[in-house]
Amino acid sequence: MEGKILIVGFGPGNLEQITIQAREAIQESQIIIGYNTYVDLIRHLLTKQEIVRTGMTEEVSRAQKAVDLAIEGKVVAVISSGDAGVYGMAGLIYEVLVERGWHNGENPRVEVIPGISAIHSCAALLGAPIMHDACTISLSDHLTPWVVIEKRIEAAASADFVIALYNPKSGRRTQQIEETQKILLKYRDPQTPVGLVKSAYRDRQQVVRTTLADMLNHDIGMLTTVIIGNSSTFYHDDLMITPRGYQHKYALDSVDQRLSPGERLRPENEPWSLKMQENTTL
Ligand code: SAH
Repeated sequence: MEGKILIVGFGPGNLEQITIQAREAIQESQIIIGYNTYVDLIRHLLTKQEIVRTGMTEEVSRAQKAVDLAIEGKVVAVISSGDAGVYGMAGLIYEVLVERGWHNGENPRVEVIPGISAIHSCAALLGAPIMHDACTISLSDHLTPWVVIEKRIEAAASADFVIALYNPKSGRRTQQIEETQKILLKYRDPQTPVGLVKSAYRDRQQVVRTTLADMLNHDIGMLTTVIIGNSSTFYHDDLMITPRGYQHKYALDSVDQRLSPGERLRPENEPWSLKMQENTTL
């Protein structure tokens, strides 16, 4: 019998943010494998499924177990919060399979089912902070050397990315977020908007609007995502907003526009474009 591994991202944690495809995958499976807290979050969707619960640092054994059961012919759902391909279980399952000489299309079949990642659920609660180029950086140095993380923060900060920090702090890791703030302050204004979202769409949801200078004076933990604005992000009331750039070309407060639709894409009206820059350096 052909086994199957369904790698399911169930979103931030509320039933309403689970996709229909993810629900169907959970229903279809015979066995659910996941971290204890995650199994609890989707418990009400379970009908007949056998549950294999594991602790927090047991991802590798969880992945191996899923592979073993699927090879035996079982349909197994491996669950991750958010999106399973963003600091979740998807990559690890494939790595374990690769080690066993597996190739795509062979038994067991594998399917990754996308979910709403923390960057998106947290952004929605803050307003529209991820309107422009953004990146995610995990501050966990349990598997990644700190020197590499530091380099990525520096690069993202200097290139003016909006940054979503995952795994910002835990009981054991408290210094990483302080070091991150120091690097960011080399490139960004201390008043840069920073949103702290804890347990988005879960029972203890908490949303804090603060600034780069002040962010460490608030509670940040394992379930917080920290969203750092770029140089143009601003607050309006309690909303964190990053402009897309429309104001460079359009009047946002009037129906009358300086440029007609036909003029809007002309090079002379985009002096910042690659084409115009090439012309000036020639
Ligand atoms: N696969 C997940 C990320 C797992 S890493 C995803 O795509 O969202 C764990 C980190 O994700 C946490 O430290 C936190 O930074 C973030 N996170 C996960 N769920 C969250 C939630 N409901 N609210 C806020 N942050 C969350």
